[in-house]
Amino acid sequence: MIDPVCKFDPRQIPDLARTKLVATVGPASNSPPLLRRLLAAGVDVFRINMAHGNRDEHDMTVQRIREAAREIGKPVGILVDLAGPKIRLGRLLEDPLELQAGHQVTLIRGDDPQGLYELTSNYAPLLDELQPGHELVLADGAARLRVVQKSSDAATCEVIEPGSLRSRQGINLPKTNLSVSALSPRDLEDAEWGARSDVDFVSISFVRNANEVQQLKQFLKSHNSEARVIAKIEKREALDNLREIIHAADGVMVARGDLGVEIELEKTPIVQKQIIRICQELGKPVIVATQMLESMHHSRQPTRAEVSDVANAILDGADACMLSGETAIGNYPEAAVKMMKRIMLETESLLRHRNSLKVRQAPDQTLPAPEALLLGAAQIARQIQARLLVIVTEHSTTALLKSKQRDFVTTVCLTDDQKAAQRMSLYWGVAPVMVAELDNYSRLPTSVVDWVRDNLGLVPPQRIVVVLDTAELPDVLDTIAVAEIQPG
Ligand code: PEP
Repeated sequence: MIDPVCKFDPRQIPDLARTKLVATVGPASNSPPLLRRLLAAGVDVFRINMAHGNRDEHDMTVQRIREAAREIGKPVGILVDLAGPKIRLGRLLEDPLELQAGHQVTLIRGDDPQGLYELTSNYAPLLDELQPGHELVLADGAARLRVVQKSSDAATCEVIEPGSLRSRQGINLPKTNLSVSALSPRDLEDAEWGARSDVDFVSISFVRNANEVQQLKQFLKSHNSEARVIAKIEKREALDNLREIIHAADGVMVARGDLGVEIELEKTPIVQKQIIRICQELGKPVIVATQMLESMHHSRQPTRAEVSDVANAILDGADACMLSGETAIGNYPEAAVKMMKRIMLETESLLRHRNSLKVRQAPDQTLPAPEALLLGAAQIARQIQARLLVIVTEHSTTALLKSKQRDFVTTVCLTDDQKAAQRMSLYWGVAPVMVAELDNYSRLPTSVVDWVRDNLGLVPPQRIVVVLDTAELPDVLDTIAVAEIQPG
């Protein structure tokens, strides 16, 4: 018998959204009862943003998420989002500081401004890397400067877009190729902490090339971590190396916050579609992030435009949508999760109705055996009107392959590997279920049938399709079985 260790009621599985929901944990959400409520409302992966909080807080957050997941009985992924080399303004003498169009300000070395319009930064080589004509976007686009003159210890800048600044707000340099690596010493310390804390995903911010992704992968491996690396696409240089970065990464985040200041804002929707298309082609999960339900920081209802944004990300083919400040510091974290889930279900009902397979393989296309087998299994499930496709697997690889085939056959992945189950929490369209121990393979189909009858509330007689991922048996490719649920 497969012994279920899940209190999460698997009868919900056929009605679950296919698109996964990533929610950022912060002061508004990191209490145990709220984490449980957010999980019950549909969070699949929790994100910890390392730009905020301290080590003790992060330790407590991981512990609370794991506890909440155990109590609910649902596999939940944890994504540690490295802060990256975010360049920030130093202390301002007047805070906030109003910049008027045409004003001149001076960027100086060090951290000791002498005049109101002297700006400093936390990135020491900034003055060396700036040239006349380069632009500085301040505070996520609140103001924009252009360098007009440079000496060895000062850069004179003209205010080309006026705005209000506060100390330590961000600086983006869309036209400057900075020498700073995507992995600062602090990021490596945080990645090491992530490895020790056994998190499932680590994301690399401000990545520029595939080498930086490889470097983080090696680093995690050398710290005995199986965490998967998510590349955050948010720099112009990353777009120049997009395919290589996506190929090297285990997953991708369209990080629209910084992306929207590094490139022209109006280009972000098209870039989002391009990134999603390449991820689909290369079989990598992709998260669309930032400002998805932004107004729900302060309002119970999102704007119409935000609802459309989430729906369009799903129609583009996103594997997951992410909430940031909405769940980290917003007033309505639970309402934001519920709203996002509702949009997912509604949008998917259209896709399901169209049975919109985004990736229809040509019938004569040559495919690797596991992919062909999974396509065949879904086809059989549709043709015999099976209620369910059950994949029995030790790994998350088969689940990812299935996920990327993008059909609406209800798919449950049974595994006894906790980490594999947690990874699957990010994969579109597959519901991971932890079972205590996978039996001997030769007896599995019958025990799967028993498990489905006893746990999924299927009324006999109903058919299911079972795929056994038989990586344990060296000479056997995966196998498909069709089984009929009979009264117990
Ligand atoms: C973003 O820039 O969109 C993003 C997700 O990163 P962060 O929240 O760390 O700025």
